[in-house]
Amino acid sequence: MANLKWKTPRSKTRSRRAANWKLNPVTTVDCPQCKQAKRPHFACQFCGFYNGRQVVQPKDPHAGHDHG
Ligand SMILES: [Zn+2]
Repeated sequence: MANLKWKTPRSKTRSRRAANWKLNPVTTVDCPQCKQAKRPHFACQFCGFYNGRQVVQPKDPHAGHDHG
């Protein structure tokens, strides 16, 4: 390749393709139990179900503190 006349300006380096790859493309599937969007291969964060059974406790708004 012939010599470049100018090096790429800093304003252009930020918009190069590799610089714009998404770091964390979040994939979701519908939970078969509660139909919420959840991560595949993870227990549902809403109902705690995975593979047809409850494997984790779902998120509880009262978790972490005790008030009857
Ligand atoms: Zn669910």
